[in-house]
Formats: sequence, C-alpha cells, structure tokens
Amino acid sequence: MTGTLRIFTAMVLVAPVLAGCGGGLSPGPSASAGPAASRVSAYAPSGPGDWSGTSGSSGHPDMQADMIRAAAANFGSCLQRMWPLAARRGVSRASFDTYTAGLTPDLKIMDFMDAQPEFTKAPWDYVDLLVTDSRISRGREVLAQYKPVFDAVERAYGVDRHVVAAIWGIESNYSTAIGARSVLRSTATLACVGRRQNYFRDEFLAALEILHRGDLTPDQLKGSWAGAFGPTQFMPTSFKRFAVDFDGDGRRDVVSSVPDLVASTANNLKRDKWGIGQSWGYEVVLPRGFDYLLADGARMMPLRDWERLGIVRANRQAFPHPTARASLVLPGGARGPAFLMLDNFRAILRYNPAEAYALAIGHLADRLRGGAPFVQPWPRDERVLTSAERHELQTLLVARGYDIGGEPNGRINAKTRKALRAFQSANGLIPDGFAGGSALDSLRATAASATPRR
Ligand code: CA
Repeated sequence: MTGTLRIFTAMVLVAPVLAGCGGGLSPGPSASAGPAASRVSAYAPSGPGDWSGTSGSSGHPDMQADMIRAAAANFGSCLQRMWPLAARRGVSRASFDTYTAGLTPDLKIMDFMDAQPEFTKAPWDYVDLLVTDSRISRGREVLAQYKPVFDAVERAYGVDRHVVAAIWGIESNYSTAIGARSVLRSTATLACVGRRQNYFRDEFLAALEILHRGDLTPDQLKGSWAGAFGPTQFMPTSFKRFAVDFDGDGRRDVVSSVPDLVASTANNLKRDKWGIGQSWGYEVVLPRGFDYLLADGARMMPLRDWERLGIVRANRQAFPHPTARASLVLPGGARGPAFLMLDNFRAILRYNPAEAYALAIGHLADRLRGGAPFVQPWPRDERVLTSAERHELQTLLVARGYDIGGEPNGRINAKTRKALRAFQSANGLIPDGFAGGSALDSLRATAASATPRR
C-alpha cells in the first residue's frame, strides 16, 4: 500500500511492466517469471531462485555486485545493529531472537529491485489483464458472500464497497494469488543490502512489531519480494497505520480474516482521503478540434468547466456532481478513450502510484457495481516501445532541444511526456504525449531535417 513499492511488486509478479506507460500492477504467483530470471549470470547460481551475481542496472553504488556481496557478508551484524531500534518499539529480546534466528539474506531480491523489463505493457493490455470476466463474476460472488461484512464496513468507513472489492480482486485475485516470500526475510534483506536500506529498515522493524504483537504469524506474513503481504497487499508500515481489528478478536488479521482485511483496506482508502459518495472518474468523449494540451493529467477544473469545452460522458449521462474537480487523462493517447479523473482517482493512486493500475481498479469497481465496459476502443494497433526504443525516443527529444528533465533513461515520466507534447505541437501532430510507436516514428522522420530549438 505504499507508493513506489507496489510498482516493485508488479515487476516480480508479472514480467512485463508499464515502465514506459506509467506503471501498473497485477498479482500472480509466478514470482520466477520476472525479467531477471532469464538474465545470464556471472555468479554461477545453483538454481533459478538464486541471485544472478550481476550489478544492478540502476547504477547505484549499493547495487554493484561487490557491494551486494560485502553487505550480504555483514548481514548478521547488520541485523544485530537493528536490535536497539526494535527494542525502542517494544519488541522483546526474546521475540527479536526468535524471529531473526537463522535469517539469511535473499539476494535474488537484488535482481528484482533493478529489473528493467525489455517490453512494457500497453495500458489496454493492463486493463484487459486485470479486469476480466472471471474477476468480475468472482468479485460479485465475494460481495454477495460477505454482504454483511461489506455493509458494516461501508457504514463504518464510508468507502464504496466495490472499490475495496476491486483492490482485493486485483491485488490477489480475492486471496487466491499471494506471494510466498517471507516478509521478514525480504525486508531484512532490503534493510541491509541494496539501494533503499533506510526505507526498508522501517519496514523490517514494522514487520517485527507485527510478529511480536501477535497480529499475524510468520506463516501469514508472506508476500512479494518488496514486503507487501496479504490479500490487499499491505506493507508493514501501512499495516501499522491502517490495519484494524474489525471482528474484535484482538488481532488485526488482514490476511485470514475477511472483516479485518476489508475494513483495513477501507480504512486505508479513507485515510488517503477517499471522498464519500463520489466516483473515481468518468469515461468521456472529446469534441472535434479539442485542444489536447489540456489533457496533461494535472490541470484540475470543475466538471462543468470541462463540459463547457464540449466534453460529455461516453454514456451520454449527466455528471452527478458538476462542481467536482477533475483532470483529463488519456491513457492510450488521442486515439483511445479519455477520462475525467476525480479526487478519488488520486486516492487510488496513493494506494498504488500507477495510472493503468488505478484505472483498472476504478473500472473493475464500476463493473462489479453493474457498470458497462468502456465505450471507446483502445488503439490496439499502436506499437508498444521496447526499452531501447524508449531510450531512443528520449534521445531524439533531447537532440531536438526538448527538456526531458534529465538524461535519457528509458523511463517515460511526466517531463518526457511534456517534451513529447511540445514536439508534437510544434510539428502539427496531435499533442497527446503518448510515447508509442507512432510518436517514435514521427520523431525519427523529423529529427534529421529539423532545427534544434532551445
Ligand atoms: Ca481481528
């Protein structure tokens, strides 16, 4: 449930990730399917679960193979250095010793941490993958089966049950697909090895607290390599902040107790400022000649102001709350469906900061409620860029004098999209900032003849 970590999760669980399109997440038990699994090793690993022995692609000094080896060699003393911090949190020496006894670093995680997928998924592939007929029908069954729980949770937290069910469905296919790594071992590894030790020290200590307090057993505390666990993928620190004991048995069991996991997930969304009684967003149709520079995902205006620009809902219904503020998002560029995103979309993004993921959550929630599929088609003929092509696109933008906010790195962020919009605008193209095959083709076609501008 915390930001960046969920994208890391995606890299482990589903090989192709949206590094180019904004991110995304899908659950799945196939932890070995990650792109790092096929990497050629210089370390002579003895099995597919072993670290490749190679330096990470981030170039971070702590991800150099020698540094990883040295940190792994010091793992035991690193753990012991965390004892005073654990003690300060009320963890007993007995608990600390019990749970850290025999703990070894899981270096395979270093491969996952710096994994750079060669191919990314298009947003439409993400939505297709995550919002399936079976996930919709199973979700409706789950809502019916646990209706008293959802009724009580909705009364207590005011968060739409369909969104909570959608998160449950997308994060773990309703508890049927949860990672198998020990969260304590993963977070201990990340707290002592690699490029985010400070961040993960807190996660490791929070995981220890969970075990010491008895909210969960070590057997329950299993999940992704980045430490997210349970059907709705709590991080240990977000568990501390948001988990509640809704069934009143004294334990905050977000893994096996449906009341606890549903209520804790609703509480997380509520504390992330979920607006009661509001949607996450609407599919909309743009008028002919629309100024696509307005669709930058950042400009917030009341829905009625967007209406004045000629935008209507795709199902032609009126906006229920015309004064609600929204931003215009085109996940698949100008040839795909458009969406006006309300504040609740941002609440979902706080849960997992990946646009296609948040769209899938919102859409699955609508479908669980009985809503229809998207009306407008996706541009399925649009080529998804490879890592090398994303790099090339950025390099061409820089060569043309556009600022991508740093060196080309193959990651299409907001600055790159802004630069792409500026290029498209200056060259008579629709400025939708969509970094696909056609954008790269147009950059290639104009790069040679055009004059660099600054
Ligand atoms: Ca409980």
